[in-house]
Amino acid sequence: MVIVFNKNVRSSEVEDVIKKLTELGLNIHKSTDGSRIIINVLGDKRGKDISDIETMSGVLGVHRITEPFLRAGREFRSENTVVAIGDMNIGGDDIAVIAGPCTIESHEQLYSTAKILRKRGIKILRGGAFKPRTSPYSFQGLGREGLKMMREIADKVGMYTISELLDIRDLDLFIGKIDIIQVGARNMNNYPLLKELGSLKKPVLLKRGMSATIEEWLLAAEYLLVNGNPNIILCERGTKSFEPLTRFSLDLASIAIINRKSHLPVIVDPSHSSGNRELVIPMAKAAIAAGAQGIMVEVHINPERAVCDGSQSLYPSQFIGLMDEIDRISAAIGKKVQY
Ligand code: PEP
Ligand code: MN
Repeated sequence: MVIVFNKNVRSSEVEDVIKKLTELGLNIHKSTDGSRIIINVLGDKRGKDISDIETMSGVLGVHRITEPFLRAGREFRSENTVVAIGDMNIGGDDIAVIAGPCTIESHEQLYSTAKILRKRGIKILRGGAFKPRTSPYSFQGLGREGLKMMREIADKVGMYTISELLDIRDLDLFIGKIDIIQVGARNMNNYPLLKELGSLKKPVLLKRGMSATIEEWLLAAEYLLVNGNPNIILCERGTKSFEPLTRFSLDLASIAIINRKSHLPVIVDPSHSSGNRELVIPMAKAAIAAGAQGIMVEVHINPERAVCDGSQSLYPSQFIGLMDEIDRISAAIGKKVQY
């Protein structure tokens, strides 16, 4: 149960409600949502008379929440969350497409890719500067230089940027350079990181952990929301399964489940879930047809030469062909791609 107070509530009114709840043996978690005080009431409410809380002074409303995630759920907020990124949005009526290389390798590599993407209308450029590599001997990313390069190139061609933040100590490097902060699959459970990003208003793309259930993923989003950041985008990127022919198994059902249970936008990464560029194209199309509000696709100017994830990176020509199909699928379901 969630109790929402009026904007001009007096602290004594909040205290009266808290007193009543504690007398009933219930635990509470108090926080603010914008300018309103909110109390999450935790614990078993059966047999406890909470009916008069709704009419107590200062109370705006009481929401009965049956899911363990409170703010991420539709029971708390029925209308879709729309995350604005400049003149674009993720979560509105239209599809958002993010594309770019797995990692920023050089100025020439990123610039040439960005020019092709922008020419096709794409407005959000992806590229890792701090890479979460399985082996410590693999390329770790260009770091600060990579972020600087990304901002310069994005400004030159007219794009927004998204890049993964691995360590909260690097946050300052991202501010002003990166428009959407990505939390990767490996960090979905990094709760201290989520708490810190929750204290910002900057859009955060939260990838599903590779072994996370949908509920665990929404509870990770809850960490961001309860700490005050409403600008959360979910990203399905596949989970581990016993199937060796794909890198991960893309869970298309999660899109439909998220759209039903949560007001947060959900996009799909068909690249990391597939591991193979031939699978990326059908999975990207399926994601849009299933109701994803966007896709994030790896594209490389020369995939054979890619420093990482070359086998799942699309050739620019493949990506352009995919976008033509995505345009048609979007139209068939009454949407359009934002350009
Ligand atoms: C990425 O998008 O660069 C990435 C590393 O993906 P994931 O966190 O899903 O593995
Ligand atoms: Mn990658």
